[in-house]
Amino acid sequence: MMEEIGREVFDAFPNWMRISFYVLAALSILVFAVGVWLRVRNYLKARKVARSDHFLRRVARAITKVTLARSRIWKNDRFAGLAHDFVLWGFLVLLLGTLILTVDEDFYKPLIGASFLTGATYLWYSLFLDGFGILFIVGLVMMVYRRARRTAPRLTYSKQERAKEVTVGRLMMDDRLLLSLLLLAGLAGFAAEGIRIFRDGTSFPEEWSPVGVTLAWIIGATGLGQEGALALHMGVWWLHASGALVLIAYVPFSKAFHALAGFGSVVFSDERAGRRLDSPVSTEPSGFRQVSDFTWVQLMHQDACVRCGRCHEVCPAQASGLPLSPRGLMVQLRSFVGELHGNGGAAFVGNAIEADAIWSCATCLACMEACPLEIEHIPLIVEMRRYLVNRGEMDEGLQTALTSLGRYGNSFRRAAKDRRTWTKRVSFRIKDSTREPVEYLWFVGDYASFDSRCQEMTIQTAEVFSRIAVDFGILGEGERNSGNDVRRVGEEGLFEALREGNVQLIKACKFRDIVTTDPHTYNTLKNEYPSPNGGRVLHYTELLDELVRSGRLTFSKKLSYRVTYHDPCYLGRYNGVYDAPRNLLKALGVELVEMPRNRCNSFCCGAGGGRVWMAETSGTGKRSAELRVSEAASLDGVGTLVVACPKDYVMFADAVKAAGLDGSLRIRDIIELVEEAL
Ligand code: SF4
Ligand code: SF4
Repeated sequence: MMEEIGREVFDAFPNWMRISFYVLAALSILVFAVGVWLRVRNYLKARKVARSDHFLRRVARAITKVTLARSRIWKNDRFAGLAHDFVLWGFLVLLLGTLILTVDEDFYKPLIGASFLTGATYLWYSLFLDGFGILFIVGLVMMVYRRARRTAPRLTYSKQERAKEVTVGRLMMDDRLLLSLLLLAGLAGFAAEGIRIFRDGTSFPEEWSPVGVTLAWIIGATGLGQEGALALHMGVWWLHASGALVLIAYVPFSKAFHALAGFGSVVFSDERAGRRLDSPVSTEPSGFRQVSDFTWVQLMHQDACVRCGRCHEVCPAQASGLPLSPRGLMVQLRSFVGELHGNGGAAFVGNAIEADAIWSCATCLACMEACPLEIEHIPLIVEMRRYLVNRGEMDEGLQTALTSLGRYGNSFRRAAKDRRTWTKRVSFRIKDSTREPVEYLWFVGDYASFDSRCQEMTIQTAEVFSRIAVDFGILGEGERNSGNDVRRVGEEGLFEALREGNVQLIKACKFRDIVTTDPHTYNTLKNEYPSPNGGRVLHYTELLDELVRSGRLTFSKKLSYRVTYHDPCYLGRYNGVYDAPRNLLKALGVELVEMPRNRCNSFCCGAGGGRVWMAETSGTGKRSAELRVSEAASLDGVGTLVVACPKDYVMFADAVKAAGLDGSLRIRDIIELVEEAL
């Protein structure tokens, strides 16, 4: 008896219908194949980049991240995570079910003369597909609900995201069309199943399709006859089939392509992207100018973008109303690329995207941290900046800073000998590590050396080091700007010169580890400088945390402040240093209240990527530093915003005044608290 249970796929459908379906299916697959080929052809024509090392490990990592861990999809938006999980798993199981059915119907049956989808196999198959089909529909309905109720503002587009050939209306239409096709295929599939079961006159236990059996019962209750049911079955079945076939053909030309390119994007992503920039390719002039400058991975990233808006939502430039959206960047570049030679030699800056947008980026890494498909925005932005810098098209303030950096090795237009000026105010002699061996080589950095407000903290750091007998020395007047931000504004030649000077100086020193107070310096020393002796690069909070844990640093009093802490982008998101500053605050006894955006979700002060040197371009909203201090000030009973970066100190001190928070919010560096507690 069990062996007889099974399903007739085309049932009483006439032959011409069966043939028409196969013809249309072949056509749909052909359009899909051509669409995929057009994209792959672009990748093959594009510039080469080595991203295939440890290929199997990359694939395993991508499978884990995309299908199992899915942490970035769930991050900060569980509703979206759940909806996407339902749709993904529902779709994959339905796809697998369709493939099994195709093999049975078109290969197994003609060859063997019988179906393998019978008996218990068929019953479990039906139950499984029914369950995942429901998940699929529920996930889609959740997605439709979010769009209809506008519960996620990031799903609408801003005017910065328009491209020449792509209007906001077209983007919205593509989003809606894709959801509609998926819903149509899913709902019509269930309806066809219900009508088939009604026509077969079967029910449980012959059918393990709870949804199908329920629908069959409802159809029966309407009093529909067998003849009407057959006509309805055919109509609904065609609705299901055409929805699915149009969807297949549409995939390579819509954002649904992210299902393929997105997986590739994660497989070939660079885990250190942004943290360590590549030197320019030997194109002349340097920097990205035209479509042929993209690597195949960058083209794949553009195809992978599903326009989820996670990057757009966290971008400080966007929050301040500046003309940059990381999602817009992807939309605009993809539209510009079209066919690889579609835009010939036209420059994308000025055509696809405006220079103002490129200069608005603070290289805070928030977009890359948020992107579930690991798309790399910052290297692209830096390449376009290289192009602009090469043409001398930059802000006047930036031009002045770069000239000063080239001439003096610092952006403050100060003579090299002035770098040591602050040491005269220290109560002891600071070792010159170029002349005597030290345990810790302190790379002080520009802001900490020259800015009068930061110098106070630099002096306190030296005093603290001395009181706990840290054996340290500085590079003195030989030190130059580390070049982290110089590189990120696109001045690669100057960066290399600065790095070379510092490397030669450091090589001549005898020390164990490097320590620095500036997270920007920390990033480039750690990720972009060669290690002269295999020693570590430490942020001062990491060093002090180590000394607390080893018992070498103890505090004579506990502080009783209620404070909040700002994670600097280049310390936190760039290098994962979140705990050391918090451990220190705990050891100091202060009560730490976290801001809503903390750790990897921290919100940038707006100084990074050389923006600190550029004239204040006002967006349509508040500056990001003002938004951040307002976030800190809104915390109950918090009167102190603690920082661990000289640039943060300067930015937030100004923002407190601009936001009218003088007197209610104090900006303090951790080192000030450490000194107070000592
Ligand atoms: S790095 Fe930061 S500022 Fe630049 S695009 Fe990404 S989120 Fe926006
Ligand atoms: S770049 Fe990434 S985060 Fe931004 S819209 Fe595209 S897929 Fe989403």
